[in-house]
Amino acid sequence: MAVTRVPLIAGNWKMNLDHLQSIAFVQKLAWSLRDAKHDYRACEVAVFPPFTDLRSVQTLVSADKLDLAYGAQDLSVHDSGAYTGEISGAFLAALDCRYVIIGHSERRQYHAESDELVAEKTLAAGRHGLVPVVCVGETADDLEKHGPSAVPVAQLDVVLQQLSGDADIVVAYEPVWAIGSGQAATPEQAQQVCAALRARIASTLGDEAAGRTRILYGGSVKAANIAGFMKQPDVDGALVGGASLDVDEFSAISRFRQHVGTA
Ligand code: PEP
Repeated sequence: MAVTRVPLIAGNWKMNLDHLQSIAFVQKLAWSLRDAKHDYRACEVAVFPPFTDLRSVQTLVSADKLDLAYGAQDLSVHDSGAYTGEISGAFLAALDCRYVIIGHSERRQYHAESDELVAEKTLAAGRHGLVPVVCVGETADDLEKHGPSAVPVAQLDVVLQQLSGDADIVVAYEPVWAIGSGQAATPEQAQQVCAALRARIASTLGDEAAGRTRILYGGSVKAANIAGFMKQPDVDGALVGGASLDVDEFSAISRFRQHVGTA
């Protein structure tokens, strides 16, 4: 039986929009999707604001009964204690976060996060019922030296070694050279790596896990190119950075079915 994976369009705001701006943004996004009669069961939409916005987003989502999901951009490996500046998964769960991004390339690059730390954070998310969005991807240098899938698959491997077959994770393939560069991968390149990642999930956690795990593409996604990615059999959505800060653009990306003609 073919598995149906509900696509996920996820907006990573990075360090943009304060808590007041987050309220205005989420309200406008919800109105835009409502006006377009967006079916959230057919395509889940999630935003990833800074930590300081999460309580405001939770209050709005809950008060207005919005179908938008939200999550954090990182979490601590620790659950509580003397870890100044860290944020526990327990706190994120208390704010009804559904997701948490782990191992974004900016954290790997600027905070020296290793594959092992990313694996530990993935376990921390699971302990608190948060779905980790595990980011993997090669640099331009890696691409030249090792080809397209070797590095992302090796990064994911370290995480998969720690998980059991029933783990609920989302994987985001984000080639570092495509992030914020305006130079997206081609849909075929994204498909090739996403298929390799799915094959590795299958060989590690089994076919059932591979069949239900959503694998997103990220890197200079916009409304004009989302359709090409979403036509690929192993691409189940997108992690969107810059374009997620523009309500109309992010709303249009979320309504990608209209671009591929299956609305
Ligand atoms: C990201 O940072 O996760 C990302 C994909 O950024 P952008 O869409 O701006 O390339």
